[in-house]
Amino acid sequence: MQRSDKNVTTTLHEPLLALDKEFNIQMANRAFYKIFEITEEETLGENLFELQGGHWDIAGLRKELQKIRKEKGLMTEVEIEHTFSTIGCHDICFNIQMLYKEGAEPLILLALRDITERKKGQQGHQEAKDKMEENAEMIQTLYLNSPAFMCTYMGPEHIYDLVNPAYQKLFGKRKIKDKTSLEALPELEEQGINKMLDKVYETGEPFIANQAQVWAAYDEGLSPAERYFNFSCQPMYGEDKKIIGVLGFGYEVTNEVIAKKREEANLRLILESIPQITITANAEGKIIFFNKYALDYSGLNGEEATTGKGWEKIIHPEELQSVVALAEACLITGKDFYKELRLKRKRDGKYRWHLLRATSIKDGNGGVIASWVGVATDIQEQKIKEEKKDEFMNIASHEMKTPLASIKGYLQLLEMTLDKDTDSTLYVNKALVSVNRLNNLITELLEVGKSQNGKLNYEITTFDFNKMLVETINDERKTSSDYTIIKKGSITSEIKGDHDRLQQVIINLLSNAIKYSPNEKKIVVTAKEKNGELIISVKDNGIGISKENLEHIFKRYFRVEDQAMRFQGMGIGLYLSNEIIKRHKGKMWVESEIGKGSTFYFSIPAGGRKSDK
Ligand code: ADP
Repeated sequence: MQRSDKNVTTTLHEPLLALDKEFNIQMANRAFYKIFEITEEETLGENLFELQGGHWDIAGLRKELQKIRKEKGLMTEVEIEHTFSTIGCHDICFNIQMLYKEGAEPLILLALRDITERKKGQQGHQEAKDKMEENAEMIQTLYLNSPAFMCTYMGPEHIYDLVNPAYQKLFGKRKIKDKTSLEALPELEEQGINKMLDKVYETGEPFIANQAQVWAAYDEGLSPAERYFNFSCQPMYGEDKKIIGVLGFGYEVTNEVIAKKREEANLRLILESIPQITITANAEGKIIFFNKYALDYSGLNGEEATTGKGWEKIIHPEELQSVVALAEACLITGKDFYKELRLKRKRDGKYRWHLLRATSIKDGNGGVIASWVGVATDIQEQKIKEEKKDEFMNIASHEMKTPLASIKGYLQLLEMTLDKDTDSTLYVNKALVSVNRLNNLITELLEVGKSQNGKLNYEITTFDFNKMLVETINDERKTSSDYTIIKKGSITSEIKGDHDRLQQVIINLLSNAIKYSPNEKKIVVTAKEKNGELIISVKDNGIGISKENLEHIFKRYFRVEDQAMRFQGMGIGLYLSNEIIKRHKGKMWVESEIGKGSTFYFSIPAGGRKSDK
């Protein structure tokens, strides 16, 4: 690689760019234009990586920029050797600084320092005066009208030299320029600001603060007020690489911080008064708040309650593993957490069922997760009621099964003894239809019980799914002749599964589509295969399901309340269908819009498919 002869060390100090978060150039200084031989028009608004024909797409730089943006870092430096189209090969130290302001897009400052000479082992010499002028020029171009504040402190006493209008505005009519930092803002001394400036000046290490609390008066004659700033202080170099001053840059974020604090305090007040276990955690899942109820219920001490491990102690061992796995998954995906689990109550040492719901709270900037709120509601009473209901349903249906079978038998005998085409035969037939319906209902109820206990039998065979689907649709067409059922697509291979139970799922979806579409009589069944899975959907244009009901639709005994009187049913068809699909290692889901119709889907692995015919 050929090194350029042009000695740019004297001219290439501090070309500076300000980028938005997509790396589009918002501001550039004169040094940048001059050194890289580019005009303002060619630069502003351009993406850095597309500048000068993609010449600035420097892998190492791109990596650092993306990293700091992703990790929300504050400052980083990277030294890269690069051959520039204009100045040839140089070692450049890229200093990247992120400036965050609540409610605004972050700003990325990219300062370039030519370190070619240093790399070659030589010290570059330059006039301190020149340097100062360059710096001053840069500051003026960039920040005179900038909403960000900016100032320079010169020498060991930190004398304010450049003070941009935004900085002056922070302190009203107080005289700042040409004073030492102590004279200008004496109240800052006790707060360590002067010490910090000393340190930057002496060591050359930049100082960066995020939401730093500073007590400073807004104007002459006022007492110091609580204020917050995001700022950076960086050394400025003069002759022989000696530090000549400090460059201060930043934003006041008092309003944002105070509003956020107030919001947090209100939120805490609300959470504290909820008679449910309530915790909040940061984006990484670290617990930052728990209410008193949580401590009272669990008996955990304050320290234990701040760690996931502490809470694990009171989760029932049977749920523990799945809860931990789900929580980890939610932290990664950002999806809401929703789970029933048993938590041990300190008072009586008994586990009680809770519904734990954790929701992510996103911040305004690009919807990044800021924190989590988790609430565990005691559902023990509900659970007991549900269990009692299940138990009752189970016993009742068991007890009904035998008498019903004999009623059916007698009706069939009666039918045989009667002359055909008489009124009596008609009545017997009607009775038989009702008995059959009752029988189906009882069978379904018993199946719910069995499915809960994991006792639902499955007979797995390899069969022609498409044939089963066509037969089922044809049967449904016969019983609901006023509906048009269209079949689209086909499953070409044989599949492995329980023929009758999968048929039961399709019958259930078809009969629901018909039942809940009293006016729109077109149903579309679609079958397709994708990546070794079959996907079946049943679409109707019926009454549809509202968003809040959708999440409960597969629960047992769930029925949409305001429709329950209009349509017969028990709310177990979908529950059973979902259980059957789960047992086939598949999944079921639904898309629906109220008044427009619903599409129910399920997918299952094709399993023991033979070669495609
Ligand atoms: P059932 O139909 O016996 O009540 P399901 O478990 O099959 O029980 O369905 C549960 C509930 O879901 C129904 O009560 C109904 O409110 C709603 N539902 C099911 N399928 C549809 C559909 N295709 N369109 C609108 N609502 C539906």
